[in-house]
Amino acid sequence: MVDSDIGPVPALEVRGVSKRYPGWRRDLAEVRVLGEVSLQVAESEFFVLVGPSGCGKSTLLRLIAGLDTPSGGEVHLAGDRVVKTSPEAIVVWQEFALLDWRTVEGNILFGLEVNRISKSRRLELADHYIELMGLTPFRHNFPSEISGGMKQRVGLARALALDPPLLLMDEPFGALDAQTRMIMQEELLRIWEGSEKTVLFVTHSLEEAILLGDRIGVFSAGPDARIKEIVDVNLPRPRLPTVRASADYTRVYDRLYQILREEVVKTISREATSGRP
Ligand code: ADP
Ligand code: MG
Repeated sequence: MVDSDIGPVPALEVRGVSKRYPGWRRDLAEVRVLGEVSLQVAESEFFVLVGPSGCGKSTLLRLIAGLDTPSGGEVHLAGDRVVKTSPEAIVVWQEFALLDWRTVEGNILFGLEVNRISKSRRLELADHYIELMGLTPFRHNFPSEISGGMKQRVGLARALALDPPLLLMDEPFGALDAQTRMIMQEELLRIWEGSEKTVLFVTHSLEEAILLGDRIGVFSAGPDARIKEIVDVNLPRPRLPTVRASADYTRVYDRLYQILREEVVKTISREATSGRP
């Protein structure tokens, strides 16, 4: 199936993907996380996902990255079916996921080692991304010696060094303070605008979604969550505070708020009746 609006081969295509986990005890029912999720993201597009907590956003990212297998459906990257992890799609996690026993430089080199890049090229790439992310003064520091903002710079540099055509970002700035988050958003946009990369970005902040996204997909509440609606963000970039004060901005915000609110209310009432978080 080809969506003519998006061109012949989308950078990412999620085709009717579902995910169920078996109950953790044999007598417990399976956990039905994703229903049939379908999504097409064009090359160089910045696509944002929002949805109630626990609906399956991280699960979907893991399936796209090849870190887990769908129960049904398929994921394709530039036309190729995902069957395992690859440098085609790399995840940046909220919890940074750094190796504590490796320095900043060592963490960036690690992904390159795993992907069998030659030593001279590894050092060249690490140099470039350390510089790009402003990490030069912290090059030889360990993760425990740097701030959350710096840790996330390392997480981003490590992912970018692999030059993935698709960058998957799971609430990457969620643990940062407001000012650091603002700077990281600007830097991410600068990097994205200067590249051909496709970004799939999960956030729970509607402001962040509208600041960054070309389109925003809103998940329905689980179980069997799916993408309920996709909202186009037709706002000029850069989306400075003046843009945020415009009627168009308010229209997008209100629409997202309305859809998301309905789904969050469903999640809360389901939790209240099932007693399960
Ligand atoms: P989100 O990122 O949208 O907050 P997640 O994808 O982390 O949601 O989780 C979605 C649901 O899947 C949650 O109810 C979670 O408990 C469940 N889940 C995630 N991983 C597993 C697993 N390995 N086994 C069983 N249930 C899981
Ligand atoms: Mg999550």
